[in-house]
Amino acid sequence: MFNRAVALLELSPGLEEKIRVCNATYTVRFGVRLRGKIQTFTGYRSVHSEHMEPVKGGIRFSMGVSQDEVEALAALMTYKCALVEAPFGGSKGGLCIDPREYDAHELELITRRFAYELVKRDLIHPSQNVPAPDMGTGEREMAWIADQYSRMNTTDINARACVTGKPLNAGGIAGRIEATGRGVQYALQEFFRHKTDVAAARLSGKLDGKRIIVQGLGNVGYHAAKFLSEEDGAKIIGIVEHDGALLDEDGLDVEAVHHWIAGHGGVTGFPNAKYVKDGAKLLEHECDILIPAALEGVINLKNAARVKAPLIIEAANGPVTAGADQILREKGCVIIPDMYANAGGVTVSYFEWVKNLSHIRFGRMQRRQEEGRHQLVVDELERLSANKDLGWTLSPDFKEKYLKGADELELVRSGLDDTMRAAYQSMRAVWHTRDDVTDLRTAAYIVSIEKVAASYRAKGL
Ligand code: GLU
Repeated sequence: MFNRAVALLELSPGLEEKIRVCNATYTVRFGVRLRGKIQTFTGYRSVHSEHMEPVKGGIRFSMGVSQDEVEALAALMTYKCALVEAPFGGSKGGLCIDPREYDAHELELITRRFAYELVKRDLIHPSQNVPAPDMGTGEREMAWIADQYSRMNTTDINARACVTGKPLNAGGIAGRIEATGRGVQYALQEFFRHKTDVAAARLSGKLDGKRIIVQGLGNVGYHAAKFLSEEDGAKIIGIVEHDGALLDEDGLDVEAVHHWIAGHGGVTGFPNAKYVKDGAKLLEHECDILIPAALEGVINLKNAARVKAPLIIEAANGPVTAGADQILREKGCVIIPDMYANAGGVTVSYFEWVKNLSHIRFGRMQRRQEEGRHQLVVDELERLSANKDLGWTLSPDFKEKYLKGADELELVRSGLDDTMRAAYQSMRAVWHTRDDVTDLRTAAYIVSIEKVAASYRAKGL
């Protein structure tokens, strides 16, 4: 995918190669005494590009973690950050572990030990390398990592900025948990603002009423499905999980399915929907929008030709393989690529990092001042509407809505929405103005690679 895009750019071969390769990957094997014996774990932290520092990217806990995987995901982080103008290079980490095999105490020991190994080498550091959650990790693990870093750097006033995705009470930011799903929603809203783009996907109208299939109801898939169905009027007709899939043409109750999975470990047995044992089959079911939100490579050479969705939005990292991408493009399917579609997570991570470095919550200084100024306007409007001759009245909820100054959550949403809109517009400008660019992914790569190249050039490379 990188090669397809870079072939359309006029970079010197040296710079092209410099951008393509992963700068460094650190492999660590460490032992932890658990259940009376020492268990050895293998972990990685890969740094793809340091054109900007710190470098940024999640840490995943999964049995699929390997050097190749973290390197590919680190590269994706470079392009993702460049596209949404988060001022970071790209990195990724992983620990080869099935987190379901361990209890919370054991996981804490393992996470802290892994963090210790990375902190020791500045591979976790507020100004050099800032991890975040990814598959198999969340707020809890980030809090352990932040605490581990602080213990090892007791005088670092910016210690909390060493990792993002922390709980609110440990230096996190409002809206980070749902940020990636929220970003998927904002991405689709922006896509549907552009009639020509919607037509390119052989669709019409608005998001309202669109039939959506979501693969994976984890943090990203759940929030995307929830917001799209509750706020945009879309219908979630299918949900694919590890133990099968659910189908309901009238639209599934996302909250109820999520609740069921939490209590039963899967979708099996969920009442009021058709259960399909071979869940992967649902990726080939007719729908308007397909949202792969779990693993990489789920749409591949084996099933791509049978995928019927005219629009795919990659909420996961790398869900469509390069071979499948070609088949889908030839079929006229529009793919909103991962580096854009799931960038909501790192965007809000950026806000969290800035919050940690500034040591103040967003909105703390302005909110009441803003409310005071709004009060002036409301008072004036009320004075005017008291004059019956003018025939003015204020709408019932205007006062309440207008008076309220923005809190941190609203500011985070506003910043994320703005970021998603601007990044989409930069991609579509390339998509629609260059004859040699026929898909959004290539457009996204072009925008990103040009930004990375400009940084390297500015450094004199
Ligand atoms: N793991 C997420 C991703 O793949 C978030 C990374 C971050 O916030 O640094 O984009």
